[in-house]
Amino acid sequence: MAPPHTKVAIIGSGPAAHTAAIYLSRAELKPVMYEGMLAGGTAAGGQLTTTTDVENYPGFSKGIGGSELMDEMRAQSIRFGTEIVTETIARVDLTSRPFRLWMEYSDGENDEPAHTADAVIIATGANARRLNLAGEEKYWQNGVSACAVCDGAVPIFRNRPLAVIGGGDSAAEEAMFLTKYGSHVTVLVRKDKLRASKTMAKRLLANPKVTVKFNHVALEIQGEDKPRGLMTHLKIQNVVTGEEEVMDANGLFYAVGHDPATALVKGQLETDEDGYVVTQPGTSYTSIPGVFAAGDVQDKRYRQAITSAGSGCIAALEAEKYLADLEDDDQPQLEKDTQAKKPEANGDSSAPEYRSNPLL
Ligand SMILES: Cc1cc2nc3c(=O)[nH]c(=O)nc-3n(C[C@H](O)[C@H](O)[C@H](O)COP(=O)(O)OP(=O)(O)OC[C@H]3O[C@@H](n4cnc5c(N)ncnc54)[C@H](O)[C@@H]3O)c2cc1C
Repeated sequence: MAPPHTKVAIIGSGPAAHTAAIYLSRAELKPVMYEGMLAGGTAAGGQLTTTTDVENYPGFSKGIGGSELMDEMRAQSIRFGTEIVTETIARVDLTSRPFRLWMEYSDGENDEPAHTADAVIIATGANARRLNLAGEEKYWQNGVSACAVCDGAVPIFRNRPLAVIGGGDSAAEEAMFLTKYGSHVTVLVRKDKLRASKTMAKRLLANPKVTVKFNHVALEIQGEDKPRGLMTHLKIQNVVTGEEEVMDANGLFYAVGHDPATALVKGQLETDEDGYVVTQPGTSYTSIPGVFAAGDVQDKRYRQAITSAGSGCIAALEAEKYLADLEDDDQPQLEKDTQAKKPEANGDSSAPEYRSNPLL
């Protein structure tokens, strides 16, 4: 028996995947979403399920719990007819059409895929790297964070000493962002120089609210010894002298990179040197017509829930256009009017016609 076929399959379940699902199901394209079963260690619903309050997602003036926000998005996807499969996609074949998808642990007989699809949206996200320091688990989200833009403004960090780990542009940006809230920000850099661009490094080093400690690593996060106790101190070490000290720190922000969840598509889709799926600027078009990417898996710069949701909307509109072209003509116009065409300087004529789009 042939595997079930769908017009569009969505892999992932964060804000990008659900926004795409909402748009596609409202367009009656009956999308199938593979939301993952602890894929890459993250619960279905994505990174926001690992945080408490989300205070910068528009529409929630009092903030909303990360898991609650994702539950709402999931309910909205289902309301319009998205089929959600709680499985992880272990393998895809994007080299021939229809695209083929295999689930983890359940390869069918004769290696039959679980599903075939005319279009696929990759929205598998990215994971912030952790350092597995002593105390990290205990104080995660109780002082320890991997996102200054997301968490920096919360009251526990206001006018308190904070620390950032990392020496690249992200670390420099995060540290400077945190100076708006913290009393002082210490940046721990393992090496004797910053990896950040010259301009960023200069700006960081000139900031009176920042101290950069070169040749230093963090050893242990310390804090209140009670349920939901907060971090208060950080034990650090000079890697040259071996000297250890305990510094006051009510917040610790990791800026040591992210790992995009792209193992699934590596070697099939074009990825950049850091493993992110390459999309044409301002679009969700990947190197394969019919395969679209949205959210953190293709965005190493902003990595926010709202930008992920926005790119999920773009992917849905572009997938919808692709499918309409497929229906109009067995030989879709894509080669000439979408992926193969680089966006033009004065506006991309391949962009969806938003005003006339029935999805809006
Ligand atoms: C602790 C923390 C706090 C944050 N706080 C905020 C905040 O306050 N505001 C904000 O705007 N942003 C915040 N962010 C960032 C925000 O969560 C991300 O930018 C956003 O979730 C990215 O969405 P996404 O749709 O790209 O994918 P993700 O949220 O990364 O979700 C991807 C999902 O796809 C699943 N998946 C992966 N591979 C597969 C597969 N092969 N098959 C099936 N499923 C798969 C994963 O398990 C995951 O559930 C925070 C991030 C973290 C880690």
